[in-house]
Amino acid sequence: MPDLPPLRDVIARHGLRARKSLGQNFLLDLNLTGRIARAAGVTPGMNVIEIGPGPGGLTRALLAAGAFVQAIEMDERCIGALSELGEAYPGQLTLHQGDALKVDVTTLCPAPRRIVANLPYNVATPLLLGWLRQVAAFDSFTLMFQKEVADRLLAEPGTKAYGRLAVITQWLCDVQREFNVDKAAFTPPPKIMSTVVTLTPRPAPLAPANWECLEKVTAAAFGQRRKMLRASLKPLNLDLEALGITPTARAEELPVEAFCTLARAIEYS
Ligand code: SAM
Repeated sequence: MPDLPPLRDVIARHGLRARKSLGQNFLLDLNLTGRIARAAGVTPGMNVIEIGPGPGGLTRALLAAGAFVQAIEMDERCIGALSELGEAYPGQLTLHQGDALKVDVTTLCPAPRRIVANLPYNVATPLLLGWLRQVAAFDSFTLMFQKEVADRLLAEPGTKAYGRLAVITQWLCDVQREFNVDKAAFTPPPKIMSTVVTLTPRPAPLAPANWECLEKVTAAAFGQRRKMLRASLKPLNLDLEALGITPTARAEELPVEAFCTLARAIEYS
């Protein structure tokens, strides 16, 4: 393993004072970043895409595990520090400076590919939804989210956290909680806990449905989640009983497959 300077020194030397506007909460504990790389199942020669490498704590763990890393970082102040890291692992790290929301990450490296990241919390959900649009292009996603977002990804029907994000994500992926990470693990510490989750694309979605139609029915149902479905879905003009759905039920009681049934009904109506 190359002899690398402590991350604190890298941050000081390159003037990487954390910026809130970029969701910068850095991980300096290399045991923790190693744990994330292990949770992602990173092995030598694997193609890994990392979003927001920052000063490179998680990147170090991915490179040490032998991955070929494509890293997209918006903050140009980090590029110098990351270039030095790349020199310590020749040929393994490719840097892209820019906004990950604007990059089709599937163009960066051939499949099989995984995404591993401590995501900037301000764009974590839109990034995930963009990747889910082309979910079959990925082997897995191991991602750090704010705990509250992770809870929504993992939520089961009948719970307060169950909503649109759970339905869309679980429709396409198996979602597993890896571990929670305390605020104190970050520099600077965020206000709330974080959680690492792994999303593994299902061989096929839980049930057939069209993305836009599924979005439409979940938006209608969860937009007024306290109302009975016969009220919240009224504008969609569906015969709920004929579809096997109890009209007096509320959105949070419906399993993912039932939302797929509703999505198919509006697609073909
Ligand atoms: N991976 C580093 C770590 O674990 O210490 C930093 C994680 S920090 C939570 C999020 C990183 O994402 C920051 O380095 C930030 O500059 C970067 N970032 C924020 N918005 C971004 C965007 N839209 N595209 C790419 N990187 C972004």
